[in-house]
Amino acid sequence: MPRQVAPTRFVRQISIEQQPKGLRAVYLVEAGSDRDERELARLFEQFQPLLESVELCSGKLVAYAVKLQGDDQSILDEIEEMLRANYAFVILHRSFDQLIYDIVRELCKDSGSRLTPVPRCDICRRAEPFPDVTVGFADSRGERISARGYCATCAAESGGQSNKEFVISLLQADRGKFDEVRNVRLVRSRSKKKLAFRIESDAGHQFMIG
Ligand SMILES: [Zn+2]
Repeated sequence: MPRQVAPTRFVRQISIEQQPKGLRAVYLVEAGSDRDERELARLFEQFQPLLESVELCSGKLVAYAVKLQGDDQSILDEIEEMLRANYAFVILHRSFDQLIYDIVRELCKDSGSRLTPVPRCDICRRAEPFPDVTVGFADSRGERISARGYCATCAAESGGQSNKEFVISLLQADRGKFDEVRNVRLVRSRSKKKLAFRIESDAGHQFMIG
């Protein structure tokens, strides 16, 4: 059987979204059962939208990366207290970085837990549960085809004089090979709600993703 290949689609619009900055943290909890796992998931859900959460691993060890939407850090302590009241092993690490992610991966392996795939920065490929900048691709009907995410460091390194240069610089640094973005004309969309560019392509230059 031939492998199914995703059809190539023409990109007609590129949008760019910058996420608000927010303190990030990681919770590691030793769960005793599937029920514990479900309760932990419910606990983190309960704090939305004040706190975004992404599961990093599940099983005997449950880990969540979280991002605060506001400045109120007391939510982190509140959650830590709730966890400590119910579980014997609880760690709160007040940032998300490669070091803590490596620790989560090690502990996950040692405890026979399951690592949950997390999004990666499409430039440096580091695990990035909360991308700083997202670039979305849409077709002629405005339907989203796919999206790329970038960490704060890569986004800061890809600066430009304008939003258009910023998008081009991000896509050129992207591992997905979007060099053709240099050869098409990007025209700022009229939409006030989001920052987006319409792609004016000609027969010689099309912006496609496959
Ligand atoms: Zn990066």
